[in-house]
Amino acid sequence: MNDLAGPHWGRSGTAGAAIPARLTFESITHRFGAVTAVSDMSLDVAPGEIVALLGRSGCGKTTLLRIAAGIERQTTGRLCLHGRVIADETRFEPPETRGIGFVFQDYALFPHLSVQDNVAFGLKRMSRHDASEVALRALERVGLRHHADDYPHELSGGEQQRVALARAIAPRPGVLLMDEPFSGLDRRLRDSVREETLSVLRETGATSLLVTHDPEEAMRMADRIALMSDGKLVQIGTPEELYLRPANLFAARFFSEINEIQGSAKAGRVETPFGVLAAKDLPDGPVTAAIRPSAFLLGDRGQPGHVLSARFLGDTDLLEIAVDGQDDPLRVRAPAGLWREGSDVTISFDARQALVFRASQT
Ligand code: ATP
Repeated sequence: MNDLAGPHWGRSGTAGAAIPARLTFESITHRFGAVTAVSDMSLDVAPGEIVALLGRSGCGKTTLLRIAAGIERQTTGRLCLHGRVIADETRFEPPETRGIGFVFQDYALFPHLSVQDNVAFGLKRMSRHDASEVALRALERVGLRHHADDYPHELSGGEQQRVALARAIAPRPGVLLMDEPFSGLDRRLRDSVREETLSVLRETGATSLLVTHDPEEAMRMADRIALMSDGKLVQIGTPEELYLRPANLFAARFFSEINEIQGSAKAGRVETPFGVLAAKDLPDGPVTAAIRPSAFLLGDRGQPGHVLSARFLGDTDLLEIAVDGQDDPLRVRAPAGLWREGSDVTISFDARQALVFRASQT
């Protein structure tokens, strides 16, 4: 069987349900010498919830995951599992007794063990017979039972990822941690592997924390997204909340390309070359309006503009449009084929899709 065979990997109902645990980070700070990798992070992951830790490389996501697993011990702060302190200044529960599963970025399979023995590895408290049975069931769930006797190097990247997932779920952990689990897969495979991983996570019911730098992946997989920058939490919320109501320009920029238009708030209003925006919660002063490329309207109303370039993207075209009073050209998504390079257009935008931030709120 190859990675793309069928919409489902294996037989659902074979994953074995965990008792989901609440995982709570309380003011966690972690330093590596002079580097503060995680700074005063608090995060409460509800039982059975899937939370994505999202951020650029180096923002501290992996460090936070390693602290949850017990591979790293935080400098200060408290980590609780179901309200019980498992790591603070005085206590430290070792990884093997935490009931937490881990899928590493490089899968970390043992090359000298068969697929089945890799999956059975974490089941040391069971008899050999029971461990083999449980390992086979986990392999069945990810559609790889027939590869039980093979060795990791005989499997494709996608299959190795599934073995790593089977190994992590086999002991029925209350919490499952995954560090960029799809980054080694090519695009073609990634979508189907993500979907199936999600259905395995839902089936096991494990509380899950997923590290990713890809906002689309976070939105597809997670109930809530914790956006991080420089070791700190920028915003936490549902995918809709982060996309539609980003807390600042950084969060807005993270989720999509935006056009940034400088302006000034006065009495709760911002005037732009394309229309007036409401900014009722902002004090008077400089602001930045963030407008997504899909929020512009081209037609017979608005500000005159000139199409500098038009790139065909399938369903839509991406246009660059020069507008008087605006230094940088606007990037606009428009229905495919309507406008060409050199066209004169008039441009306005859907004010409901524009976001306004204080200029210092980057
Ligand atoms: P990536 O997506 O690249 O893995 P990340 O968001 O997971 O990045 P971390 O790996 O947690 O980030 O790293 C956070 C910061 O801590 C970085 O500045 C990194 O260089 C530093 N760091 C991580 N591990 C160590 C270590 N063992 N010793 C020293 N510095 C470290």
